[in-house]
Amino acid sequence: MAQQRPPRMTGPGHDTFWEGCGKGEIRMQHCPDCGHRPWPVVTSCEQCGSEKLKFERVSGKGKLVSWCTFEQSYYGDLLPVPWDTIIVELDEGPWFISNPKGFTNAEAKLGMALKVSFLDCEDQHGAFALPVFEPA
Ligand SMILES: [Zn+2]
Repeated sequence: MAQQRPPRMTGPGHDTFWEGCGKGEIRMQHCPDCGHRPWPVVTSCEQCGSEKLKFERVSGKGKLVSWCTFEQSYYGDLLPVPWDTIIVELDEGPWFISNPKGFTNAEAKLGMALKVSFLDCEDQHGAFALPVFEPA
């Protein structure tokens, strides 16, 4: 059964990202002019201003660079606390905020190898696949 979640960002670019997640892929923008890989989704390159950004599949692999546990409830029953959140440095460079799967923040180790997995979720926009990260 799909987990209920707070509303995600949707619209141009974001929809391309979520479509990829539905197919088991993380798709991120890449700038053909300077090589930068912006994240989150932008309308023009934050390094060179190019508007030629293209979405590409990334590996879904990375390493744990930070984590925290929310003790304050911001979403009531949607996200009961304590709520573990992590930051993954993807192999392609961007830092990605996510949730741990298969481990808790009490077991987190700086630099641990992680790979993406997808959870069936639902928000006010409908069903979607949420990228989370598990030990590689
Ligand atoms: Zn650029």
